[in-house]
Parts: sequence; structure tokens; C-alpha cells
Amino acid sequence: MTLYAATSNPGKLAEFATSASSAGIEVRALPSLATMPEPREDAATFMGNAELKAIAYSLLAPGLLVFADDSGLEVDTLGGQPGVRSARFADDLYFELNSSRTKDDRNNRCLLSLLNALPNPTRAARFVCALALARDGQVLLRAEGTVEGQILDTPRGADGFGYDPLFLIPSLDLTLAEVPREQKWQISHRGNAFRSLLAQLHHAHL
Ligand code: IMP
Repeated sequence: MTLYAATSNPGKLAEFATSASSAGIEVRALPSLATMPEPREDAATFMGNAELKAIAYSLLAPGLLVFADDSGLEVDTLGGQPGVRSARFADDLYFELNSSRTKDDRNNRCLLSLLNALPNPTRAARFVCALALARDGQVLLRAEGTVEGQILDTPRGADGFGYDPLFLIPSLDLTLAEVPREQKWQISHRGNAFRSLLAQLHHAHL
């Protein structure tokens, strides 16, 4: 069986492909993804966004099993923010809009400035990943994965991306930017969601 990933991120694609190969499933990049119109990710939930992408792209690739993902960070004391706005958090709040910092850096600084403005912020947070698998515009399977952690005061670690340097895994005393890449896949929201999708595929007749 071959699954087509609606992602242009080569790192994600490689992780999905390696993980699926151990289950005898092939993962490939969706052909012509770069030339397809991008759907607006304007759903209120991660799963809503994953579904709308899987539906839109599978309609453009008739007959193929297409999966899409959406992910982000939820911080409890901020009412689940940044949530579905994780990628554009600083931009949405016009935070350091004209600075020369990278988007990840601005998002992290934006998160810390919101937390530091609270009198006694708690630090509990989780990454969430939603995956939806569709064919010809019909969602066939859904999977969600999480990883629980704590938001640090200052970034730690040089690997990873996004909010990784602020996200501590308490049981390891490492941030996701300090955890080796292979180990990150074993514990991450994306790894957990994808393993759940593979387990469902095992029992599904698609
Ligand atoms: P995407 O849906 O995977 O593109 O992720 C959206 C945003 O959520 C990213 O731009 C990051 O800010 C954040 N994010 C998602 N997954 C991770 C992760 O594994 N580490 C750090 N940040 C993440």
C-alpha cells in the first residue's frame, strides 16, 4: 500500500516514510503538491485543518490515499493558545513584526512575553498532531497524538524547530531541541499520531 503525504516538508516526509516502512507501507510525497492550490487552514481545531487539507488534496489526486497533518502547541494557562495559530502566533499579535528575527524566534519570544505577563503562570503544555487520511474527498481515517511537557523560561538546545527549545520533557529533563531526532519521533505528537494511523490502517480494508 502507498500513502501520499500532503506535506512539502522533507524532514516530516522522511520521518513518515521511515516509520511506515517498518509496517510494510510506502509513503511518498504527493505528486505535484507544489503546483496545487493551498487550501486555507482556517478550521478551529487541528483535526479540522488536517481534514480540510486531506479532502482538498485528495480531490486533486483522484484515487490516491492522501494524508495531511496539522500540529501545534497548547499552553494550558493561556487557554490552549497558540493552538491552531502556532505557526503565525507572533504575526497575529503583531509581535516584533518588523524585527529581523526568525519567525520561530519571534513565536517563542511572543509566548514567553504572554506567560511572563501573568502573575503566577503554570507551565503545563502539550504538542498536538492531527492526521487525516482521505481518498477522492472522503475522510477515511483520523488519528491524533500528543506529547505533554512544560514551558521553560529560556530556550535550551539547538536541534528541532518551532517551540522545541522551550518545551521541556520533564521525565528526560531535556527540551525537544535537546532530544536526539530518533528519540523525538518515538515520543512526539507526530510520531504518536502516525503510529495510531498505521495501527488503524492495519485493521482497515482500504
Ligand atoms: P505544522 O502544522 O506541522 O506546520 O506546525 C505548525 C506550527 O506548530 C509550527 O510552525 C511550529 O511553530 C509548531 N509545531 C508543530 N510541531 C512542532 C514540533 O514538533 N516542535 C516545535 N514546534 C512545532
